[in-house]
Amino acid sequence: MIIDVHTHLNNYHEERVVSIDDCLANLHREMKANGVACSLVLTSYKVTEHRPSTKSVIEATRGMKDIFVVAGISYLNYTEKDLRELSGYLEEGLVKGLKLYPGYEPFYPYDKRLKVVYDLAIEYDVPVMFHSGDTYSPKGKVRFSHPIHLDDVAVDYPEMKIVICHVGNPWIVDCMEVVYKNENVYADISGLVLGDFSDKFEKYMKTKLEEMILFTGEPKYLLYGTDWPICGMGSYIKFMNGLDLPDDKKELMMWKNAAELFKIDVASLS
Ligand SMILES: [Zn+2]
Repeated sequence: MIIDVHTHLNNYHEERVVSIDDCLANLHREMKANGVACSLVLTSYKVTEHRPSTKSVIEATRGMKDIFVVAGISYLNYTEKDLRELSGYLEEGLVKGLKLYPGYEPFYPYDKRLKVVYDLAIEYDVPVMFHSGDTYSPKGKVRFSHPIHLDDVAVDYPEMKIVICHVGNPWIVDCMEVVYKNENVYADISGLVLGDFSDKFEKYMKTKLEEMILFTGEPKYLLYGTDWPICGMGSYIKFMNGLDLPDDKKELMMWKNAAELFKIDVASLS
């Protein structure tokens, strides 16, 4: 079983507008080709013709048993109304988690303005995912996306579950410490490459991840995710297959941790 906790329905090749239904069909095709049982779709912090809103992704995926939504929130632009809408979705169980984009937007995750968002996450017991590490766009400011800042949030909100996306790459050692130290912190391995892994980079990342697992003990905090369509699903599965890890631990990473954290009913997947 495979659960991909990090995919998007955004269109990153912005020459033409691709409809949300076409993006969804592509996602389903890719999942099927790679034996992925379930994907979480993360919406963006901004809404454009290439980046559908949480509302439209919820509408497009309603009733699908293998796709769930994680709602992106804009630190700079969120309004009362957005939060009200979001609590409605959380109440109805239409949103499985929240996502913030430090780095892409200039804020530190421990900013007081986010207390209202964290309170919502705690009330509905959904994890908050944070973009972490390098930004896809050179316009991002990476001091904001350093994983070390999430330690403050983890300590100040012990009831809140946190996911450090992209294992904080390239600050994997810092991510490793925040995960190791705080019981409420997880990390996903998505977005490590653009497209497919090259052999050299695959080897390098394999070593880094194995180090992380060695340091943190059991990989009960690591989550499988790709960042598709930025990264290829097939290439990621090949990467996972190459990891020097016993099968039961690999299973934790591939779906068990995610099913528990995001409360995914795996019985309805097969
Ligand atoms: Zn992403």
